[in-house]
Amino acid sequence: SLPVVAIVGRPNVGKSTIFNRLAGERIAIVEDKPGITRDRIYSSCEWNGRQFHLIDTGGVEFGEKNEIIEHIRKQAELAIDEADVILFVTDGRQGVTPTDEEIAHWLYRSNKPVILMVNKIDDVKHIENAYEFYQLGFEQVIPVSSIHGTGTGDMLDAVVSLF
Ligand code: GDP
Ligand code: MG
Repeated sequence: SLPVVAIVGRPNVGKSTIFNRLAGERIAIVEDKPGITRDRIYSSCEWNGRQFHLIDTGGVEFGEKNEIIEHIRKQAELAIDEADVILFVTDGRQGVTPTDEEIAHWLYRSNKPVILMVNKIDDVKHIENAYEFYQLGFEQVIPVSSIHGTGTGDMLDAVVSLF
C-alpha cells in the first residue's frame, strides 16, 4: 500500500490550503467509523513519480480553547497512527505558539518522521521568520507559501525522501 502523509497543525495555519494545492484525485472514504474518518479528507498525490496518500486532519475546529486543543490532539493521534510521515504545518507570520509546542511534544512521542512546514512565507523577505521554528526541535524546517506555491517543491522533496 502507498505511504501515508498526514497534515497536522493548529487551526488557521493553512492545512486545508496546502492539502488542496497538493491534492490530486480525492479518495472515497471506504470505512466511515464514527469519530474516526468523519473529520478527515484523503487524497492521492504524486511527486517525482512517488505516489502517496495525503490526509487533511483539521476537520471542524471551533469552540472553547480547550475543546479545540482536545480536537487537534485527537486528530493528531489518529493521523500519527496512520501516517508514515507527518507534515506539521505552522504559521510563519504568527511565529511559534504554545499550541505549536504542545503539538511538537505529541509528535516527538510518536517517533514518526516529521517535516515542519512554516507556511505563509509569501515573500522571500520573510524567510528568516522560519528560523525560530528550529526551536521546536525538528531537523527539517521548510518555508512555504501555500497560496503562491513557493517552497512546495522543496517540501515535497523532503517528504518523499522519508518513505
Ligand atoms: P487550516 O485551518 O489549517 O486548514 O487553514 P486554512 O487552509 O483554512 O487557511 C486559513 C487561512 O490562512 C485562510 O484564510 C487561508 O487563505 C490563509 N492561508 C493559507 N495559506 C496561506 C499562505 O501561504 N499565505 C497566506 N498569506 N495566507 C494563507
Ligand atoms: Mg482546514
